[in-house]
Amino acid sequence: MKLLFSKVKDRLQFLRSLKVRIFIIILAVGIIPTMVLRNAILQNYEKRAVSVRTTDVQNQFKILANHLITYNYLSDTSSEVVNAELSMLSDLYDGRVIIIDQNCNIIKDTYGISEGKTIVSEEVMLCMKGQTSSNYDAKNKYIEVTTPIVDNTTQETAGEQKTVDGGQQKSQVKGVMLTSVSTDNIATNVELLRNQATILQFTAMILLIGIAWLLSHILVRPFDRVTSAIREINDGFNTEQISVSDYVETEHIVNAFNELLGRMRTLDESRQEFVSNVSHELKTPITSMKVLADSLISQEDVPIELYKEFMTDIAEEIERENKIITDLLSLVKMDKTSANLNIENRNLNELIELILKRLRPIAKQRNIDVLYESAREVFAEIDEVKLTLAISNLVENAIKYNKEYGYVKVSLDADHQFATIMVEDNGIGIPEEAQEHIFERFYRVDKSHSREIGGTGLGLAIARNAILLHRGSIKIDSEEGQGTVFTVKIPIIYVSK
Ligand code: ADP
Repeated sequence: MKLLFSKVKDRLQFLRSLKVRIFIIILAVGIIPTMVLRNAILQNYEKRAVSVRTTDVQNQFKILANHLITYNYLSDTSSEVVNAELSMLSDLYDGRVIIIDQNCNIIKDTYGISEGKTIVSEEVMLCMKGQTSSNYDAKNKYIEVTTPIVDNTTQETAGEQKTVDGGQQKSQVKGVMLTSVSTDNIATNVELLRNQATILQFTAMILLIGIAWLLSHILVRPFDRVTSAIREINDGFNTEQISVSDYVETEHIVNAFNELLGRMRTLDESRQEFVSNVSHELKTPITSMKVLADSLISQEDVPIELYKEFMTDIAEEIERENKIITDLLSLVKMDKTSANLNIENRNLNELIELILKRLRPIAKQRNIDVLYESAREVFAEIDEVKLTLAISNLVENAIKYNKEYGYVKVSLDADHQFATIMVEDNGIGIPEEAQEHIFERFYRVDKSHSREIGGTGLGLAIARNAILLHRGSIKIDSEEGQGTVFTVKIPIIYVSK
């Protein structure tokens, strides 16, 4: 069953094409109404033709009925005038006329078959009471009409009469005329019309197939243009933005694509810039090492003290190279998706105290006070390793870019939604124009100063990425020469996307 279903599905794959759908819709919209119309017109024509013929026959036979009375035909069927008229009418309508008297006896049958017989049918009985009737038999192609033979004279015979009208003059039904006329010619006309309609419809259908094919191709062409424009960009033949403004829909697709393209290009540019920055940063320590080593090699009888000094410098450069690589690896880890987060409910007070305990000895070397202030016990759902790295980088910076005898103050607070960590220092501060760039990778306000104190320009980029992974935010408030405050907000409950 499943196999059959999938086979049918495979067969119907072509219906997924917009071109095919437009083709089918145009064809259906064109063909169905013409078919309905054709049948309605043909049926209507037949109905009208039958109704005209019936009225015609009824009128003619009403006149004949009068003649029958005038010539007293019901008593004596030898009247030549009436017989001639009868045979003329039955020839004209290609039909049969039966005249029945008051006793339901057939006194005349133009086919000469039923004379002398008695006929008792519902139509005849009704007609005796003055009601005419007509009946169309479409299958056998004839119309049957009953006409009362009414005597309009005033004589009245008790017990046998039926008044037809309620006027002053009494009318008596003396007999009934039963007429069947052929409708062969109506059927022939309908057939003829049907054939013509079929030819017309067939021609219209061929035309419609052509139009549907053409329209389905023309209407879908802009979408094909969108595809080929995207392919050109993909193959590298086009580097500009694309434009297909035929439809509002194609414009929307193209606009969305151009936006995506723009984002990809920006990403590509920043990737290239990153790679060139990384190469440059990694090359700098290597160049220094090479210079130091070369100068030792090129000199003869180098004193051991100089060796020691140069080797110490080389070791420092190796240490620096190592730090850059470690930071780069951290950054790459942070760039990955939040799926790699290891979320746990942690006490932030303990986490911060641990960080400060580790960093206090470094601060002490420059007589910098590290203070900690916490309003309450704060628990939050965090990735301990990543958040520790972020806060460590902020506190390290606050120590690194501080003055001798300065201070660093870390405070922790929380509301029902967010934990807020503030890292404040009264160090060198950050110039206003630099503030918007400091989270960029490898950005440093003072390159040589940062290098001197072992900065890589990656610390804040790592911190920001780690905080964004927690769906938090980081804000900077700084004044040159006065100090800096970084404010970090982390949701207490981690919400994964
Ligand atoms: P680095 O490794 O150079 O410290 P960061 O990304 O951590 O790189 O910082 C980028 C730059 O921002 C630093 O080079 C420094 O100029 C500036 N900066 C960061 N934190 C502070 C701060 N607390 N006070 C003054 N300047 C800072």
